[in-house]
Order: sequence, then structure tokens, then C-alpha cells
Amino acid sequence: MKTTAEDLSLILKQQNISVTPQRVQILKNIMERHDHPSADNIFQEVRRALPMISFNTVYKTLETFCQLGLIMKVNPLHEVARYDGNTTPHTHLICTRCHQVEDLYWDWPKEIPLPDLRSSGFQVESVAVQLFGLCRRCQNEAATPL
Ligand SMILES: [Zn+2]
Ligand SMILES: [Zn+2]
Repeated sequence: MKTTAEDLSLILKQQNISVTPQRVQILKNIMERHDHPSADNIFQEVRRALPMISFNTVYKTLETFCQLGLIMKVNPLHEVARYDGNTTPHTHLICTRCHQVEDLYWDWPKEIPLPDLRSSGFQVESVAVQLFGLCRRCQNEAATPL
């Protein structure tokens, strides 16, 4: 998604948070890419435009955006959090070898029978499905170590 500085400022204003050059750059970066970057990936890009920015600022800003629902967090392999600027419902194809995360629009059956959770008292709000496997590139290279 191509975003203008005006669009981005408006998005931030709608959330009642102040519009800073850091926030605008970080939001622009995450919304324009589709590779589900880590905080460090975003930091490396954003610091080109804002050399004084710290990793901590990038990280905290991403967490704020997550809380506001502007972006989503994906923790595919329980290691480094990855962020997703695409908040429309979709699932992910996750490569267990190179950790590539690809978007998948799949209308999977929503009426999955849930287990009886009455005894645990847990209230389910949503069910997430992610598909793990090997991307095309890794299938070809699976024989060779990374
Ligand atoms: Zn792969
Ligand atoms: Zn995604």
C-alpha cells in the first residue's frame, strides 16, 4: 500500500497520539512492505531517513501501533516478533527453514468444533490458523545447510 505523509498523519491523529517524524516513518515503512519485518528490519530502513533514531524508539513505537490495532504482531516460531502492516483478515504461510512469512487469503472453515472449555473457564475470542512448511526456495535447498 502506497501511503502519503498526509494519510499517515491522519491515521495517527485518529488514534489521538501525537504525530512525530519517527512515528510517521515507522508507520510508512511497515505499511508499505509485505515481508513481515522484525523490529530490527524496520530500524535498519527507518534510520536511513532518521539517522538519530534508536532501536528502542522503533521497538516501542511498533508495540504502541500493535496496541492501537494499526498493525499486527506475528510470532511464527516464538523467536523474534515480526510485524504486519496488513490488518485485513488473512493467514500466513510460514517457512520453518528461512522463516519467510507470506500472506495467504484463505477462507478456512470458521465452524471448527472447539473443545469443551467450561472447566478451564477460558473464553475464546478468536481462532488463528497458520500453515508451517517449506517455501519453494527451501524445498530446493533443503539438502544444503543454511
Ligand atoms: Zn524458506
Ligand atoms: Zn501477513
